[in-house]
Amino acid sequence: MSETADLYQAIIMDRTKNPRHAGKPPHFNREGHGDNPMCGDRIHVYVADDGTQVHHESRGCAIMIASAELMADAVAGLTADAIAERRKAFEAMVTTGTTNPTLGDLNALSGVSEYRSRIRCATLPWSALTAALEGAK
Ligand code: ZN
Repeated sequence: MSETADLYQAIIMDRTKNPRHAGKPPHFNREGHGDNPMCGDRIHVYVADDGTQVHHESRGCAIMIASAELMADAVAGLTADAIAERRKAFEAMVTTGTTNPTLGDLNALSGVSEYRSRIRCATLPWSALTAALEGAK
């Protein structure tokens, strides 16, 4: 394994064991849900509109939980348009495996591209976030 692969693995392990954005927040404006029956992943996303803050309640595999955590970091303070752009870049990265410097720690999930069935695990939190942003509370 390369040093980068080790680092990415460490990021995923840390975020799965020590989530920083897990749980229902006391205040939120929007919420969205995502299911991945293929893997058994379920996620509920809560968004507070003022300077976009994302929390999540997740049950599922390490990839999905790490993805939810890294997503919450990556979208903090962004507008809905900027989030949509980032989602596009993220989905391209996990599909192709080509890391993108603008995605920062999200690149830890680039290895998912080698396992087609796991790509959905990585993209599920972003689907749930988009559902939250598109729907009213
Ligand atoms: Zn999964």
